[in-house]
Amino acid sequence: MERLPVLDPATAACSECPAPCCAEHDVNVNGFDLVRLMRGLALSWPSLVNDIEHPHSFFVGFRLDSSSTHHHFYLRRRPDETCQFLLQLDGRWRRCGVHQLRPGACRAYPIRAAGDEVRLASHIVCPPPQRQLYQSACEAMRVVIDDDSAEDALWRRVLERWDLLARTVPRGQPLPMDAFVDWLLRLYDAVAPLRRGARGEWQLAAYALVDEFPLP
Ligand code: SF4
Ligand code: SF4
Repeated sequence: MERLPVLDPATAACSECPAPCCAEHDVNVNGFDLVRLMRGLALSWPSLVNDIEHPHSFFVGFRLDSSSTHHHFYLRRRPDETCQFLLQLDGRWRRCGVHQLRPGACRAYPIRAAGDEVRLASHIVCPPPQRQLYQSACEAMRVVIDDDSAEDALWRRVLERWDLLARTVPRGQPLPMDAFVDWLLRLYDAVAPLRRGARGEWQLAAYALVDEFPLP
């Protein structure tokens, strides 16, 4: 049986790092991230994410009524600002406690797509040695970046679908967040079998499914 690598060349950079990224950045969570965490940990959404309201969507927020209030999901953080999933081991090592379930933004960090290129993001907080390792692993990370970009594109499509309902809801009488999250769970469960298709093709099938998916 072929053994899968435990750490790829890029994530190996993190093994000797105190993980300042998991304390200094707010982690935005898309629908796929949220559903995967809810299913994987058997936890409800309020245990996992904070709902932050903002007057703009920035393409990743959503409404619960026809007002301009947009909701954004961010991973919950502790009072000391560290992500609630960050583990402190032996007083020295820090590790992600949900490594296989971590959001796409965490998987992709600190690399980002810039047109056809993949390169280090401008806001990274990696120490210099790890920065150098990631710099040399940019191309190896392309598949992760492409997957993350595809999920973000699907999320925007999902939010467009949802907004058809939200825009009909009177201001000041927002739909319950639970109604939105229940809808997300059903939608992403319906999308899941499509992911077995070829890369680049399953997304088109998923878009078609989203565009017809029944609203509550
Ligand atoms: S700061 Fe950079 S090297 Fe350190 S854990 Fe985060 S991504 Fe890895
Ligand atoms: S989910 Fe994991 S990788 Fe992402 S911020 Fe939290 S501890 Fe860090």
